[in-house]
Amino acid sequence: MSKSKLGDWSVAQAEELYAVNLWGKDYFDVSKDGDVRALLDDGESVLPVSLKEMVAGLEDRGFELPILLRFPDFLKRRIDILNNTFNQAIKEISYKGNYRGVYPIKVNQQDHVVDAITQFGREHHFGLEAGSKAELIAALAHMHDGEAYIVCNGYKDEEFIDLALYANKLGLQCVIVIEMPEELPLILERAEVLGIEPLIGVRIKLSSKSAGHWNDSGGDRSVFGLSAIQLVDVLDRLKAAGKLHWLKLLHYHQGSQIPNIRAIREAASEAIRMYVSLVREGAPMGIIDIGGGLAVDYDGSQTNFQGSCNYSVREYCLDVLESFVAVLDKEKIEHPAIISESGRATVAHSSVLLFNVFEVTHFEPREVPPALGEDSPEMLRNLFEVYQTFTPKRIQEAYNDAMYYRREIQQLFKQGIISLRDRARGDHVYWSIISEVVKEVKRMGRSAPPDLADVEGSLVDIYHVNFSVFQSLPDSWAIDQLFPILPIHRLNEEPTETGIMSDITCDCDGKLDKFIDYHGLKKSLPLHALNDRDDYILGAFLVGAYQETLGDLHNLLGDTNVASITVEEGEIVYEKEIEGDTVADVLSYVEYDTKDMVQRFRDLAERAVRQKRITANERRTILKAYDEGMRGYTYFRD
Ligand code: PLP
Repeated sequence: MSKSKLGDWSVAQAEELYAVNLWGKDYFDVSKDGDVRALLDDGESVLPVSLKEMVAGLEDRGFELPILLRFPDFLKRRIDILNNTFNQAIKEISYKGNYRGVYPIKVNQQDHVVDAITQFGREHHFGLEAGSKAELIAALAHMHDGEAYIVCNGYKDEEFIDLALYANKLGLQCVIVIEMPEELPLILERAEVLGIEPLIGVRIKLSSKSAGHWNDSGGDRSVFGLSAIQLVDVLDRLKAAGKLHWLKLLHYHQGSQIPNIRAIREAASEAIRMYVSLVREGAPMGIIDIGGGLAVDYDGSQTNFQGSCNYSVREYCLDVLESFVAVLDKEKIEHPAIISESGRATVAHSSVLLFNVFEVTHFEPREVPPALGEDSPEMLRNLFEVYQTFTPKRIQEAYNDAMYYRREIQQLFKQGIISLRDRARGDHVYWSIISEVVKEVKRMGRSAPPDLADVEGSLVDIYHVNFSVFQSLPDSWAIDQLFPILPIHRLNEEPTETGIMSDITCDCDGKLDKFIDYHGLKKSLPLHALNDRDDYILGAFLVGAYQETLGDLHNLLGDTNVASITVEEGEIVYEKEIEGDTVADVLSYVEYDTKDMVQRFRDLAERAVRQKRITANERRTILKAYDEGMRGYTYFRD
């Protein structure tokens, strides 16, 4: 933690305020100059690099905000942590099976990410999970390690099954996991036709259910997996076909982001009973796949709040293994190999979305309201009197009166009785009163009237930010997921404002108004006032899982610019820069023919020349603007 003291404010306070030292531990810190830094590792040592400096480097190279930064180094670290921790736990409790994790491609399908994961995972024989035909096709391009697994989940048609079988023929361990009983006849048929023995797994539904956003993936009513009745049916059909020896793997998935270790233990205990039952039925087995669910501590609170988790990776590994051993040893059954499909815990840390603020709307008046003229409407004069006579003792009365008179003024405006200027004067006086109320409520603390507890929220500023929640943080909009969000610089200055964020889509849902807090969530974020010197840049952290491809094209705002950043011999290396979508790109996604559009606009401009609205020269300038707009970035440009 940096200890630079600046007046009454220190960067240590900033680190604490935004909990950087909790959710960002080992990955991010704050420099004494107030910049958030990524703690990058060049293989020799850790080099803290300022995110602001990275933005400057990218801007020099022609990349504008918003930018998604990827840190492959963090991917490597997460893969090493997962594998080493499982291996250490295996050693500690003398577990006999080995760990062979797989990365579920769905969590971040980007080619660079999958490529980096297979590269960094090679020493651990870290495999891939494919939930669809397309993901299997991607996996087969990347994963050529015969000691790693490729796990095929999801609904499978003939093409999907054939590809998995061919993969086995090529020397890979590609497991076809049966999600529904109806898949089995097709697997039997295709294996026979192609003359290839499959590796088969079964996905089971557990009765154990966990808390959290994604708990519908587990429990009796989950959509995926076989019920006990269906599992018995699959076993009987395999036996009848004389193919029970194909069954090697049992898989379960409780859902993503399981916050409570108790739920993980409960599910492991139930699953291992199922595993034992399959061995007793005569299946060879040998592999248990515990699915995803290993949580990320997004708020750093280490609690069972849904954006956090009350366990470490070490506890996760030990608890699962111990639950298995307790049953397996009693039943005298060999310890199987363990696969986990940890997606979020592998990729979340590796991406940060950076965006700038282009405007702030203040509700708190920056100047005292000017005196009113003699002929001002009565309601406005009454409101002004409330302002002039405000005292802490009259706080509740002043608040009630302010609300009443403002509503009256709005009514009178609707009826055409008072002017726009008087209505604006009324708003100015009203917000001045609310400002006094808030100051007093803060001073009174717990003794403030309960009615006024939420008044502060009405004064919170709106920071207009240059990105789309729908495109870049879809889980924030769809399921209220919280990500750590904070300024990436100026943390050596006390943030004197409080704000929420409104994105560039102009959609009332395109906002960030809930933020991580140690004790749950907070409804606004401490921020700095904008200045004329610098762009004010904010970062959304831990966004590597699910956010990149779940996004939509709301308001035709496309993919942001992306850059991967590493360090080599103490220098920042900018690599794999990918330009975000242009306007033409997003239009073509929604089936516009951009050449035809240019032609139509040209026709309009030519008609204007004929009608003498513009000159031919002006036509050229206008067409150039249209063309440049078409080829430009979809986000707000300075
Ligand atoms: N495996 C399956 C079958 C999934 O559906 C998912 C996603 O929910 C995962 C693994 C990844 O889960 P997580 O990101 O929580 O590790």
